[in-house]
Amino acid sequence: MEPAGNGGKLPKRIARLGELITNMWWTWQPDAQRLFERLDPVRWEEVRHNPVALLRRVERARLNAAVQTPAYLELYDRVMEEFDRALTGPTWFARAHPERAEAIVAYFSTEFGIHEAFPAYAGGLGVLAGDFLKEASDLGLPMVGVGLLYQHGYFTQRITEDGWQEAIYEPLDLENLPLHPVLGPDGQPVRVEVTIAGRPVRAQIWRLQIGRIPLYLLDTSLPENEPADRELSARLYDGDPERRIAQEMILGIGGVRALRALGLQPAVWHLNEGHSAFSILERLREHIAAGLPFEEAAARVRATTVFTTHTPVPAGHDRFSLSLIERAFAGYWEQLGLSFKDFCELARQDEPWGSTFNMTVLALRFADHRNAVSELHGHVTRKMWAHLWPDRPVEAVPIRHITNGVHVGTWLARRMRVLYQRYLGPDWLERLDDPTLWERVLEIPDEELWTVRRHLKRKLVAFMRERARRRWQGNRVSPIQIVASGVLLDPYALTIGFARRFALYKRAYLLFRDPERLRRLVNDPYRPVQIILAGKAHPADEPAKRMIQEIYRLIKDPAFGGRIAFLEDYDIEVARHLVQGVDVWLNTPRRPLEASGTSGQKAALNGVLNLSVLDGWWREGYNGANGWAIGEDREYEDPEAQDAADAASLYDLLEKAVVPLYYDVEADGIPHRWLRMVKESIRSLVPFFNTRRMVKEYLQEMYLPAMEAASPRTLPV
Ligand SMILES: *Cc1c(COP(=O)(O)O)cnc(C)c1O
Repeated sequence: MEPAGNGGKLPKRIARLGELITNMWWTWQPDAQRLFERLDPVRWEEVRHNPVALLRRVERARLNAAVQTPAYLELYDRVMEEFDRALTGPTWFARAHPERAEAIVAYFSTEFGIHEAFPAYAGGLGVLAGDFLKEASDLGLPMVGVGLLYQHGYFTQRITEDGWQEAIYEPLDLENLPLHPVLGPDGQPVRVEVTIAGRPVRAQIWRLQIGRIPLYLLDTSLPENEPADRELSARLYDGDPERRIAQEMILGIGGVRALRALGLQPAVWHLNEGHSAFSILERLREHIAAGLPFEEAAARVRATTVFTTHTPVPAGHDRFSLSLIERAFAGYWEQLGLSFKDFCELARQDEPWGSTFNMTVLALRFADHRNAVSELHGHVTRKMWAHLWPDRPVEAVPIRHITNGVHVGTWLARRMRVLYQRYLGPDWLERLDDPTLWERVLEIPDEELWTVRRHLKRKLVAFMRERARRRWQGNRVSPIQIVASGVLLDPYALTIGFARRFALYKRAYLLFRDPERLRRLVNDPYRPVQIILAGKAHPADEPAKRMIQEIYRLIKDPAFGGRIAFLEDYDIEVARHLVQGVDVWLNTPRRPLEASGTSGQKAALNGVLNLSVLDGWWREGYNGANGWAIGEDREYEDPEAQDAADAASLYDLLEKAVVPLYYDVEADGIPHRWLRMVKESIRSLVPFFNTRRMVKEYLQEMYLPAMEAASPRTLPV
C-alpha cells in the first residue's frame, strides 16, 4: 500500500492522516473516526469506514476545506497527540513488570476480528482475538499476533425472498488495507516454506499494525506455488479436510518459521483454539534439531505454551484422519525422532469410527497452561477431557478458566463514552477494571442517560433503513424483503436484539416456539415490542439455514406487523449498531454449550439489559437486579424439556417483567425504574467483563509463570 490521499498528496497541515491510516489504532478511537468522517461523511459510509479507501477518493476541495476549519485542525492535533502517546508513551506493563520488558508473547489464531473493513473472522473467536490484541496494545504488553491472510475472508450473507441464505465470497480489497509486506535484510519479502504432502508450499508474510502490536499474516497466493496451493488461504474454515490441514500447517508450522525469520524468540506461545496446535510440533522439531532428547524438548515446549479452548461442542474441535496425517506430514515425524505410530499418539483421540489426530488433544498435552473461557465452561471442559488425566478426579483436571471480556474502546458508543467521561472522571479509561470507579454510574442523571439511549436506538433504526434503501435501489428485491429488513420499525418502541451465529444450539427458534403468544406480545398497541435478528449460518450447516428460513417465514407474516426484522450480513459493523442501539439483548443458548459469549457484554457496556439463559458469562454476571435470567441454574437430560421450560420462562419474563418495566414511564416521560436497572447492570458488569481485566488475568495466571519457565534463570540454554 502506498501513502494514500488523492494522488498520494495530502495538504501538509494534515499530512499525518497518511500515517494514521497505516495503523488500525483508529478502529477503537471515535475521535480518529470523526476525523475521517468529517472529511466526507457520505463517502465514509460508501467505503464502509475504510480510511485508506476514503483518502484515495476524497476530493481535493474537501481536504482543503478541512485545513481551513479550525475545529477540524483542533481535533486533528488532539488525535495525533493521542496517537503518538498510544504508540510510544509510557505503558501499564512497563510500569508493572519492568523485568519482563523483553519477553514477547506470540498469539496464534485462525481468525482475527479487527474491523468490518477486514473480514478475516467468522464470529466470536475472531472478535475475541481482535479485542485481545487491541487490549495488549493499550496495556503495552509485548505481543505479536500470527494468523493467515484470507483472499476472500468469510462470506457476505444475503437472504432470498423465501428466506434462504446465500453466501457470497468477495475478494478481499487488498489495495485498500494497510498491509505492509515484511521485508528481510536484503530488502526482499520474507518467505517461509512448509512441506505439505511432500510438496513445498511457500508463504509470504504481511504485517497489519494494531496499535503497538504487529499482526503477522501468512499468505500462500504466490506465483511459485502450485495453483491449488495459492488458493489455500482463500477461505476461512474450509470444509475440505485436505485444504483445512494444509491451512493449519501453514498457520502452525509456517507461523513459527515466520517468527524465526523475523528474528523473534517469543517467551510465551499462546494458542487461541486448537487450529494452530501444529506449532507445537514445529517447536519440538526445533529443540530436537538442536540436540535435545524428546522428553526434554517436550518439557520446554509445555512450560512455555498457553492454550485456550473455546467450545464444548465436539464439532468445534478439529481432528484429522490418520491417513490424512500420514500423507500431509510425510517425512516430518522422523525429524522428531518418532515412528508414525508414536507421532499419532501425541494427539490420538478415539472416536466411534476410529482413531483421529485431535488438535485439542495435542494442545492440551503440550501446554502446561490451559484454560476455558467461563466458570461453567471450565467445569464442562474438565469433564470433557478428563480421560487425558485418568489418575485425577474431574475437578482436579488441570484446566482453569478465564472468563472472556470485550474491548471497551471498540464497542462503546461515542455518546456513552462522553457520559462516562463526564461522570466517572477523566481517567476512567485507565481505571476501567476498578469496580469502585463504576459506583459513580449511579450519579449519571436519568434524563441524560435516557437521552443517549434514545439517540442510539434512533441511530440503529436509521442505519437499518439506509441499508434497506440501498438494497431496494441496488438489487432486485421484493417489497416484502424490504419490510423484513426493518423499515416498519418504530424508533421508540421497546426493542429486543438477538444476533449470533445461527447454530442450532443457539436456539434462535426459542422465541418463535409459540407464534400466537409472540404475536400478541409484539402487537400490543399500548406497549409494542419489536425484535431485530441477525446472524449467519455456516454455509455447510443445512439445519441452521432451514432455521433461518423458518424464522424468516414468520417475519414476513403480516400478522407480526413488520415489528420483527432480520438484519442481513451480521458483522462487526452490524454488531456495533445492535449492541449499542437495542434496549434488551436476548440470548437463548442450550446450556451448557455457550462457553462464554461476549455480545451481551458489549450490550451491557452501552446500557442495554441482558435477558439470557444462565450459561457462559451470564451465569457469572447475573446478580438478580442487573437484567433477567431465563430458566433455571441447571442442566437437562432431555433437550425438548429444556426448550419447553426455557421458552415458557422467556415468554413469562417478557410479559410480566421486561415489557411492564420499560413502559413504566413517570410524569417526566422517563422510565426511572428501567434506568435504575440499566445503571445496576453497568455498575456490576462492566468492571469485570472487559478485556482489561481479562488480559491482566492471562498475564498473571499464565504468561508470567510461562515467562518464568522460559527465563535463563531456570532453563540454562
Ligand atoms: C461479539 C461478536 C460475536 C460473538 O458474540 P456471541 O455473544 O458469542 O454470539 C460474534 N460475531 C460478531 C460480529 C461479534 O461482534
